[in-house]
Amino acid sequence: MSRDKKQSKDTPRKLIHEEQAIEDAVNVAIKEAEDMESIAYSSRGGGSEEPIPLGVVPDLGVLPKKMRAWVIRKERHGEPMKSFKEEIMPVPNIGPNEVLVLVMAAGINYNGVWAGLGQPLSVLDVHKENYHIAGSDASGIVWKVGSNVKSWKPGDEVILHCNIESETHTTRTETPYDFISYDPMASRGQRIWGYETPDGSFAQFTKVQAQQVLPKPEHLTWEEAASYGLCYFTAYRMLITQAQLQPSEVVLVWGAAGGLGVFAIQICKMVGADAIAVVSSDDKADLCMELGAKGVINRKDFPHLMFKHGETEEERAKRLEDMKRFGQAIWKILGERRNPNVVFEHVGEATFPTSVFVCSRFGRVVICAGTSGYDCEFDVRHLWMHQKRIIGSHFANALECIRANELVRKGIIKPVLSHTYSYHEIPDVHQIMYENKHSGKMAVLVQASQTGLKNTEEARGAAKSVQSRA
Ligand code: NAP
Repeated sequence: MSRDKKQSKDTPRKLIHEEQAIEDAVNVAIKEAEDMESIAYSSRGGGSEEPIPLGVVPDLGVLPKKMRAWVIRKERHGEPMKSFKEEIMPVPNIGPNEVLVLVMAAGINYNGVWAGLGQPLSVLDVHKENYHIAGSDASGIVWKVGSNVKSWKPGDEVILHCNIESETHTTRTETPYDFISYDPMASRGQRIWGYETPDGSFAQFTKVQAQQVLPKPEHLTWEEAASYGLCYFTAYRMLITQAQLQPSEVVLVWGAAGGLGVFAIQICKMVGADAIAVVSSDDKADLCMELGAKGVINRKDFPHLMFKHGETEEERAKRLEDMKRFGQAIWKILGERRNPNVVFEHVGEATFPTSVFVCSRFGRVVICAGTSGYDCEFDVRHLWMHQKRIIGSHFANALECIRANELVRKGIIKPVLSHTYSYHEIPDVHQIMYENKHSGKMAVLVQASQTGLKNTEEARGAAKSVQSRA
């Protein structure tokens, strides 16, 4: 056998041996890294003062005393770039009915902007703490549970809804269904977590009531799972519970490419109702059509439509003219002189007179916010003569959150995540929202080291490969 021949015959086996050796070496290195990591975390786990590094998932049970968090303080109220500042904060203590969650990703909401601005009031005056960690959406891993909590255990992969119920409503924790005997939104003690309470999701750990915890849809990434709760559950209550939306009805959706709007369109489609989307750019119009809108109106085509207090007679006349043209644009999309049965409102002052005007006889204007202002003015004759109803709505109760989340788990409703940012960009991403430069929903990574990871195992694996590359 010639040397050449021997070599060519032996090479594949040699390669296999080399590959095996490399794999073994890698496995040993990974094991060593795992051991070192777990030794390091275990040593901190006794309540180290030092926060865990960002982008890692420590062993269950490892719980430092301190964590990294973006904090709003009273003296910093203003635009997001000014109001959010990173600080090292104590990890929150939990009560018997509460759960501590390791935040993998957090969702961005307009209430972070409001909290930073200190408008219309300082949320620090509401919860009376001298710090405010905003953030009302998160996906994460249950880290510790209170003594009464039976429905969740450390290691569960979850998302969080943001309705805090009054204490009297949270003493039973066997299953999430224990919380639904009456509508907890009626309670005076009801609060929005991460807005009216100080320990929201822009931190490594957050604490919530056990009833706020929902199963994470397994098919979603951490960032997708963190992105939808607050806006989707609000839109669900507005349209399904409050407006009692019916198949074949028509819904006018203001801000249809925004956080609430993208879910309102999907809910309409699911029910068999036609959504007419209102937006301010062509890009946003495309998104709405993709989500299933019947048609789109660009509000920029109606330059006098927005109401302003103190308008002149001439401005008022032009606005009324634009309101009529706007109504005709709806008819054009529908192909008939038909007005919306439901108007999905959250813009408030600027759009409210138009909403009441274009709403159909016996129709419903359902409203959950006043982004452009709270002092809504409208011609009440349009309301009473045609027996329209105005319905206020605020977030959602646990049952609505559970039902709505099931639709996401089944893939019927989808998150609309336009962009994921890093933990360090939390002020920037709120600034983008404040300047209305976004569409759909945005999220930030916290303990997830990169986008695209769906569970604890993937997150741990990715964190290790980042460490070994470094
Ligand atoms: P978002 O993502 O910023 O979307 C809001 C949309 O409203 C924007 O995309 C914009 O769309 C439109 N808009 C803004 N200013 C407008 C104006 N002057 N006239 C007409 N349209 C205007 O915010 P979001 O997450 O949907 O939240 C919207 C509001 O609801 C916020 O104030 C938020 O705090 C509130 N909210 C309340 C609850 C609750 O439970 N009560 C829950 C969720 C949200 P175009 O520029 O494309 O028209």
